[in-house]
Amino acid sequence: MFGFLRKRRQAQLRAQPFPDTWAAELIRRAPYYARLPEEQRRALQGHMHVFLEEKRFEGCGGLAVTDTMRLVIAAYACVLNLGYGDDAACYPGLHSILVYPDAFQVNPREHEELGVVVEDADGFEGESWDVGAVILSWRDVQRDMQAFNGRNIVFHEFAHQIYHHGGLIWESRAAARQWADVFMRHYERHCVEVERRKPLLFDEYGAENPSEFFSIVTEAFFERPAAFLRHYPEFYEEMRRAYRQHPASYFRPEEFGGKV
Ligand SMILES: [Zn+2]
Repeated sequence: MFGFLRKRRQAQLRAQPFPDTWAAELIRRAPYYARLPEEQRRALQGHMHVFLEEKRFEGCGGLAVTDTMRLVIAAYACVLNLGYGDDAACYPGLHSILVYPDAFQVNPREHEELGVVVEDADGFEGESWDVGAVILSWRDVQRDMQAFNGRNIVFHEFAHQIYHHGGLIWESRAAARQWADVFMRHYERHCVEVERRKPLLFDEYGAENPSEFFSIVTEAFFERPAAFLRHYPEFYEEMRRAYRQHPASYFRPEEFGGKV
């Protein structure tokens, strides 16, 4: 019953009009949004209403979270939901987004006590853990937005949320099994390629464990879909089914100077 009410409430939120000022700000400040076709933008706006209503943003390390930060982070987080329409769960396990001004200001020890897994103690960019929060460095969010190089810390952290809280739905058990087979085969292949120091498209960090691999391939799927499709057509097809999206058909960063 609770799930039904939440779903109905979310559908109402998605149907709300999107303020023109928000759309204009996203065009200026969120390069990925600016490159989406109209249809995807509209769907994204609906998911953003849900996200902004349900999630709490908290500034850390002296940062005051602005409306622009909220809009930009929500937009990138919701790209992962785009294919699901009213079936999008919108990160049910997530309550808060903690935003730091810069990576070096995050105090990993403070968060470790809460059960945080530190991704990279030297260059701390963002993280996602099982107690319902995502931590991001605003500087790194901004840096990644400009590059279109297959690295995006917001996609990365929210993919962890999906991986750990089950944000994807398959049409049958057989389809889910097939996904798991193809995913693990590519994970193992990636580990071998990293070992031989010749990873093709995915960042080496994906060899850490399957959860990191899922985040890394999610970043590539949304930022460099054409290259993903070209190099790993079978895996791309499974990602397309899992996310119910076909970004290679509409997202062409190379037209804007990004890598193919
Ligand atoms: Zn990670």
